[in-house]
Amino acid sequence: VRARVMQVDQSPDVTYQDIGGLDDQVSEVRETVEMPLKSPEMFDEVGIDPPSGVLLHGPPGTGKTMLAKAVANQTDATFIKMAGSELVHKFIGEGAKLVRDLFELARQHEPSVLFIDEIDAIAAKRTDSKTSGDAEVQRTMMQLLSEMDGFDERGEIRIIAATNRFDMLDRAILRPGRFDRLIEVPKPDETGREQIFKIHTRGMNLAETVDFESLAAEATDASGAEIKAICTEAGMFAIRDDRTEVTEADFRDAWEKIQAEESDDEVSKT
Ligand code: ATP
Repeated sequence: VRARVMQVDQSPDVTYQDIGGLDDQVSEVRETVEMPLKSPEMFDEVGIDPPSGVLLHGPPGTGKTMLAKAVANQTDATFIKMAGSELVHKFIGEGAKLVRDLFELARQHEPSVLFIDEIDAIAAKRTDSKTSGDAEVQRTMMQLLSEMDGFDERGEIRIIAATNRFDMLDRAILRPGRFDRLIEVPKPDETGREQIFKIHTRGMNLAETVDFESLAAEATDASGAEIKAICTEAGMFAIRDDRTEVTEADFRDAWEKIQAEESDDEVSKT
């Protein structure tokens, strides 16, 4: 069971150079996660504890997982990932046990970066309906907080959580000594989009005329994940057309196609 729900990556290959448009967020992650792992003695000498947990929040596909992987890569730490939704179980005590196993795994792999995606699944504001399911989720969260209380902040395990639904979170998890460092990871601005286009086309055979500045200006509202999808789809347009060189028109067609698919999704949801 453990192998299925907990992903262990000894050496993730993502670096800070692969992340476009999040300079401030990269600096913050370096300061709060990388520094305590690399130079714990600095914190000892200054006499402060580094933040216990860092919470990344922002829309889907903006690079939250990438940030956590890049910091693990930079510190030669093992990257351990688990989704909060995997911690939600029907059976009493199962979620709490998984949390204990997760921290045990992190201890075995020190130094390690423990990434808990979709933390809202276990840390949403309490609803009025006190069903047994809610109580079990509550216990799972309590176990997570108690594991966090139990370990040395200057130690070799760092915890990063992520959510797309910050407004839904129970504020109790944001108290000092818990997820007390918040880092917002927004969708990229125009410059960020241009950087992300360049990152995801590094290995592509591009026509000389491709102008990422204007593509970035047009792809308003695209997330990093969507820009990556545009690049792949642009390549597909070239292949369908029996060309090996990808043109600017291919990128435009790709963006149109992806937007059309998204609006289809919206319609089918309603
Ligand atoms: P979710 O909330 O849906 O889990 P996330 O914020 O964790 O999303 P990632 O998994 O980090 O998003 O991003 C998905 C993919 O989108 C990445 O693997 C990468 O290819 C691309 N991507 C997203 N943001 C960026 C970015 N800022 N720079 C470069 N690539 C990006």
